[in-house]
Amino acid sequence: MRYRQVGMMDNCEWCSLSEEDRRFLVCESAAWSVFLSDEQDYIGRCILVLKRHCSSLPELTDDEWSELRELVCKMEAALKAVFGAAVCNWSCLMNSFYKESAPDPHLHIHVRPRYDHPVTLGGNTYCDGEFGHHYALHKSAAIPDSDREEVFARLKERLSR
Ligand SMILES: [Zn+2]
Repeated sequence: MRYRQVGMMDNCEWCSLSEEDRRFLVCESAAWSVFLSDEQDYIGRCILVLKRHCSSLPELTDDEWSELRELVCKMEAALKAVFGAAVCNWSCLMNSFYKESAPDPHLHIHVRPRYDHPVTLGGNTYCDGEFGHHYALHKSAAIPDSDREEVFARLKERLSR
């Protein structure tokens, strides 16, 4: 069993994040890392990644749940304060892992802030045209690097208080 766990971790990209992958870390707790997502289809979108290899919510320990609760509160407060998010959409999906013949998911949770007003960054305006509805699956997720850096800096600054 122990050998199998080591093998699983070796093959898991979430268990072996590079320094480059970790560059957009906005905050962390003992059990979780929070990164600004590559996809910024909703400004401030982040991903919470459990630091250990674990496949599902029912397998979380009490301490991990407790830290997750604190992070949910902290992230919602920051996204509302910094960008004026009206609400946050939280999702734990992991569907892509199940395309494999032997699914071995690494638990992660997406948070998409939703906006009832345009958000302006570096002279660009971003709108949540689906506000009040399910988040869009094929919305443009690319924003200029300079805007992404600004989102990262503002969020990280707020979360470090
Ligand atoms: Zn893993």
